[in-house]
Amino acid sequence: MIATADFTHLENAAAEDVLAWGIETFHDRLALSTSFQAEGMVLLDMAARLDPRVRVFTIDTGRLPQQTYDLMAEVHRRYGIRVEVVFPEAGEVETMVGLHGPNLFYDSVPNRMLCCEVRKVRPLARKLRSLDAWVTGLRRGQSASRVEVRRVEIDAAHGEILKLNPLADWTVEQVEAYTRAHDVPRHAFYAQGYTSIGCAPCSRAIHPGEDSRAGRWWWENDARKECGIHFSPGGKVEREADVLLKEILRAS
Ligand code: SF4
Repeated sequence: MIATADFTHLENAAAEDVLAWGIETFHDRLALSTSFQAEGMVLLDMAARLDPRVRVFTIDTGRLPQQTYDLMAEVHRRYGIRVEVVFPEAGEVETMVGLHGPNLFYDSVPNRMLCCEVRKVRPLARKLRSLDAWVTGLRRGQSASRVEVRRVEIDAAHGEILKLNPLADWTVEQVEAYTRAHDVPRHAFYAQGYTSIGCAPCSRAIHPGEDSRAGRWWWENDARKECGIHFSPGGKVEREADVLLKEILRAS
């Protein structure tokens, strides 16, 4: 659906105001997407204060660490929010694992992107087809590929629904300050030195001096540290991953 709402006034608005506008404008046609990292938890806390009925969803890739499920359960205890869990298509996962093995992501960048496509990107696209707006915890400071993130964007990759990124201009220090001030639950991996958390086999703690996303797909040296949900890598790697995906879809 093409969003027709006027949102130009929000580019310099506070994060809470962006979120409040989104909830008031779209009601249950808006949902917050979170993988339970610090930014998503800040937004979840803010949104729950604005409207305890706010919808929250997550993608369960089937490879998440137990600590992520623990935090999901804590969200229900603390906020009364039952997170909507989106799963990949079982047939696609079965075909992919049958053809390439359970740990295909370590074999090549196209294989890793195929896994992210089947386990994350396609389930997300399916979920977003039922929404008019979604909220993410993207921040410009997270990586070079995120410097252009705006507070409110039309999401051309997902049917031109609205994508709200209320924390676009926040620093990591602001995220931490909000977390402390409101006693927001934190993913247990932060205490172990993780600075970015996703699937268990594809995330590790960073070493001193490393970039904050260095722990994601840590064995890859020259690939963009993105899964394809927010940004596509383009070029040869994406074309190779596309060929692999077509093979999966034909066989599923
Ligand atoms: Fe697969 Fe790793 Fe991507 Fe998770 S992060 S979907 S396990 S490649």
